[in-house]
Amino acid sequence: ANKSGGNQFVYFTEQLAKESENNRRIAKKIYQALENDEFYLVYQPIFSISVDQVVSFETLLRWKSPVLGEVGPVDFIPLLEENDSIVKVGSWVIRQVALQVKKWELEGYKDFTVTVNISVKQLQHPTFLRDVETILAETFVEPRMLIFEITESIVAQNIDSAKRILETLNSVGIKIALDDFGTGYSSLSILKMLPFQFMKVDRAFVMEVESDGGESRAILKGILEIASGLELTTIMEGVETKEQLLLLKEMGAHRIQGYYISKPVAPMIAVEFLSKKDKV
Ligand code: C2E
Ligand code: CA
Ligand code: CA
Ligand code: CA
Repeated sequence: ANKSGGNQFVYFTEQLAKESENNRRIAKKIYQALENDEFYLVYQPIFSISVDQVVSFETLLRWKSPVLGEVGPVDFIPLLEENDSIVKVGSWVIRQVALQVKKWELEGYKDFTVTVNISVKQLQHPTFLRDVETILAETFVEPRMLIFEITESIVAQNIDSAKRILETLNSVGIKIALDDFGTGYSSLSILKMLPFQFMKVDRAFVMEVESDGGESRAILKGILEIASGLELTTIMEGVETKEQLLLLKEMGAHRIQGYYISKPVAPMIAVEFLSKKDKV
């Protein structure tokens, strides 16, 4: 290798070492975060175009570490997935959401749903369904108010067992959304194999819908056509401008999520969106 290549190699290994050092630092702390009450949830409003109002929220996990400060989920969820910690933290998330839904109902809010991200590792864990049933029984939350979001990476797992689990969830009344649609490496056949009611279209296609030469628009048109044929409700992710919203509306998208509606916010702020009209 030439000299600069050699230097680059040293640079990269140093970077990698720093990264894994950082991961170790985070890993050491993350496993106590649940016990220490350092996790909390934020909720991002999801706007329905036909109802002309916010009808749903996505739950997003946050970690405020007294030592590391605010750490984003993309930095700590993979660490939780490395051993089975995601199962415990994931159950905690579902329980908090169930309690939050009941609280909002007591405050007089109705006709809304809340989505929860479920890691594939968590879904495939032997106690998952039992844990969910326990939470439903103990909190009295109505299952029809819950939507579980699953990513395409589920196809890397045993598809028959995934199918059984999702069908069981459906049978108790919990609905399923396919998250980040269009970004994975899986084929479209996942849509045939698993029982989804919602399709969340990844931000990647929304981002450039006005600026690229029409590619995003063409792909989105196809995606929306497929979703419509399969009777899936579409949720467009990462909508940041009014122009994007209007374009997506014209193309027939059902629901919109993104900074244009609202960033993820604390529960007290999120719930106020249910009584707001006229975002568009
Ligand atoms: P995701 O499920 O795709 O969640 C959407 C992400 O996009 C969130 O990032 C959200 O804050 C961000 N976002 C929403 N609207 C916009 C927008 O208009 N523009 C841009 N640029 N971004 C937007 P966040 O909260 O950092 O979460 C990242 C990922 O972490 C999530 O991606 C999800 O995969 C994972 N995650 C978050 N909470 C949980 C959880 O409770 N359990 C599991 N298993 N995963 C979670
Ligand atoms: Ca999600
Ligand atoms: Ca997503
Ligand atoms: Ca994503």
